[in-house]
Amino acid sequence: MTVDIAVIGAGMAGLTSAAQLQQAGYQVVVVEKSRGVGGRVATRRLPGYRADIGARYLEAGGRLLPLLIEILQDRGILQLWSNVSHRWDDGFVVESSLPRYVAPDGMNAIGKFLARGMRVWLSRRLQQLTPQDDGTWHLSLEATNGTSDAPLDLSAQVVIVTVPAPQALPFLDDRAGVSEAFRANLAAVEYDPCITAIARYTIDRSPPDWVSVDFPPETDLFWVGLDSSKRRNAPQPVFAIHSSAEFARSNLDTTDLDGLGRQLLDRAAHYLLPWLSEPEFLNVHRWRYAFTHRPWRQDCLATMTPLPLICCGDWCGTRHIETALRSSLAAASIANSHLQQEVLTPIRQVWRSL
Ligand SMILES: Cc1cc2nc3c(=O)[nH]c(=O)nc-3n(C[C@H](O)[C@H](O)[C@H](O)COP(=O)(O)OP(=O)(O)OC[C@H]3O[C@@H](n4cnc5c(N)ncnc54)[C@H](O)[C@@H]3O)c2cc1C
Repeated sequence: MTVDIAVIGAGMAGLTSAAQLQQAGYQVVVVEKSRGVGGRVATRRLPGYRADIGARYLEAGGRLLPLLIEILQDRGILQLWSNVSHRWDDGFVVESSLPRYVAPDGMNAIGKFLARGMRVWLSRRLQQLTPQDDGTWHLSLEATNGTSDAPLDLSAQVVIVTVPAPQALPFLDDRAGVSEAFRANLAAVEYDPCITAIARYTIDRSPPDWVSVDFPPETDLFWVGLDSSKRRNAPQPVFAIHSSAEFARSNLDTTDLDGLGRQLLDRAAHYLLPWLSEPEFLNVHRWRYAFTHRPWRQDCLATMTPLPLICCGDWCGTRHIETALRSSLAAASIANSHLQQEVLTPIRQVWRSL
């Protein structure tokens, strides 16, 4: 099968560029290695509960996020969570923050919204990108689980890669024919890892009066949030605890994830509530690429040699989701300029039409 544009990754960046290009009339396929869409805007289903293991909230700052938040609020997908933030600095410091919005059904509802009407091939990992004699890219895909019947091959005139830059290097090796300088630019991008623990407590534990606390790195913590305060019906307190980058880096290859989760709970219990170290249920996730640490300082990274290839995502700046959105629109614009040069609909209208 040959399409105009293949987008690699169904996170915020991939789904945004794909939506805009598809609306312009291009044939677009999004290839995603996971079973669901949203990327790091991720929600995990746990017994009787769902918890946000990735992006914590959308903050109404920047140019694009306020537009998206407004539309998601209109659709009943997002609601205001808080505009007060707590910070730990040898005690609680309460600060006002930009309004923060969350999805009561889980933050992955955002990805599901952005993927409406989109052709997304789930459980397919891009393994190798190769230029072909007919002037198209060949994408060799690997099945990551047996539940999808999407094909294992795809050809495309333009490829937009939205995966974290270090994860793109394996499929952009010598066979892809991109320059060493291009690879070096990708290789220079660095991410911080993060360990995330989701902990549920018995019904007799009274939830605190705060919903979100930021921590300085020496505590081993980065953020603690009361996840259950995001849900409509959550009788038991559930917390999301994100580690500091340093804690995650020094435990990157530890196999005992539960043990790491317990260490984080102990730290949270020390600073916040003693009973946090006694969860009824614990689930731990490791993010190797959580937050951009050393970004690429342009909107995206593109080459036309040997064929049009545009890499974008949150690593093209420091504003996380806002950067991912901005970068993906820059990538869509470059892709369009190498195809039919259609008039691209402004993203606000594209999102409104979903
Ligand atoms: C714990 C945590 C908390 C966060 N909190 C916030 C927050 O509160 N606010 C905020 O703005 N940001 C937050 N972020 C960051 C935010 O989630 C990211 O900046 C944003 O989601 C990145 O979007 P993206 O589309 O660039 O990348 P991703 O979401 O990483 O999307 C890339 C996609 O590519 C897929 N993929 C990777 N390799 C392949 C392959 N070879 N083939 C096919 N598919 C592939 C991945 O599965 C993924 O779905 C948080 C991140 C983490 C981890």
